[in-house]
Amino acid sequence: MTPAAWTSLFTAPLAGADPAIADLIEQQRRDNAAAVNLVASESYCPRATLEAEACVLINKNASGYPPRVSFAGGEIMDAIERLAIERAKTLFGAEHANVQSLSSTIANVAVLRGLLRPGERILAFDRAAGGHSSHGGRSHVSGQDYVVESFGVDAQTGMVDYDAAHAHARSFRPRMIVAGSSAYPRRIDFDRLHAIAQDVGALLFADIAHVAGLIIAGLHPNPTPCADVVTTSTHKTFCGPRTGGLILCQSRHAQAIDAALAPGLQAAPGGHIIAARAVLFERVTRPPFRLLMQNVVDGAAALARGIERGGVPLFAGGTDTHMVVADLRRSEWAEAEVNAHLARHGILGNTTTLPGRPGDRSRLGLRLGSTPMSIRGLPAAGFEALGAAVAALLRGRPGTVDAGIERASQALAREHPIPFD
Ligand SMILES: *Cc1c(COP(=O)(O)O)cnc(C)c1O
Repeated sequence: MTPAAWTSLFTAPLAGADPAIADLIEQQRRDNAAAVNLVASESYCPRATLEAEACVLINKNASGYPPRVSFAGGEIMDAIERLAIERAKTLFGAEHANVQSLSSTIANVAVLRGLLRPGERILAFDRAAGGHSSHGGRSHVSGQDYVVESFGVDAQTGMVDYDAAHAHARSFRPRMIVAGSSAYPRRIDFDRLHAIAQDVGALLFADIAHVAGLIIAGLHPNPTPCADVVTTSTHKTFCGPRTGGLILCQSRHAQAIDAALAPGLQAAPGGHIIAARAVLFERVTRPPFRLLMQNVVDGAAALARGIERGGVPLFAGGTDTHMVVADLRRSEWAEAEVNAHLARHGILGNTTTLPGRPGDRSRLGLRLGSTPMSIRGLPAAGFEALGAAVAALLRGRPGTVDAGIERASQALAREHPIPFD
């Protein structure tokens, strides 16, 4: 058979088909390898998950949940999705799992739409203290469709003020309490929030996007047994690909949440991302994952030590997780300067907004995390030295260059390559 006139459209490899995009991908690959990555929301996914995600399943269009009786060939999608669901339930001890959401922000919207009516009340962990925009942020649909008030941290200690949250819940009478951290480096006590929710007759929604990997490794309490619903992304301490959200819930909420996600928000989910998730859910049950997560926690503690000994204060006084937040509220730094100054020295992190206090110059914080460099094999002692270097940079001035730190981070990145790329 002679090929059709358009066959080469489909067979040309990327480098030849689109050199501009191929070059940019290659540039990102080089940048990833050359930098010391302290971005708290990043990781490097296992090769097996990348292979599952970049595969022929991407061509399969099959909406609905197993069993997909309305799609020819849906049995394979069903088999993949059933494996993903069973593995997710086992990982967290959940009664029900939904593995289809295209991101954990979308998962959160599905949870709210499944369990609440528009206009109902939510008490959410304050964004300024490290909560997430999808927990009722003004610019997010969750803040527009519901009546949202927030609980936060003690102004002096930076620790969650559970007594204040309880009093607030008693007067506000929310239908749901939502908590999860994007930039709060301490544990959130979900058992305590569960007791508060019980007292006021509210549902409890725990968003473990950042700490899921620590929970799997037994290094952080698991809220799944007490919360009505739990969501997570797959790419933070979970160490999976960027495309993914996971919903875990009690059986009694399963139907409402499943329907709110699909067909409520999404149609066909894409078999490739479900397959990649299934692979991830198996990878993280292996004993080396626990060792990795221990290194992540030890690494963050060492990073915190290095920063503090270097003379820069820490938000909430330290860390219980993979995350460290340097408190720059009394410093002279402007947000854009901090990221640029670190990047100029080969170190990647990102700025965040902290609660305002009287006497502060700003609300600036610097969020760092230990997951990517732990995957690359950096031990705790290395993190402490890195913390000292970050502190030295933060005590310096914008626009100056410390050639010693620049060389040291280049060497560190070289000595700790990404396991595969
Ligand atoms: C990162 C994060 C999300 C969003 O995850 P995406 O997969 O990027 O949508 C949701 N909640 C919390 C607490 C997060 O930190």
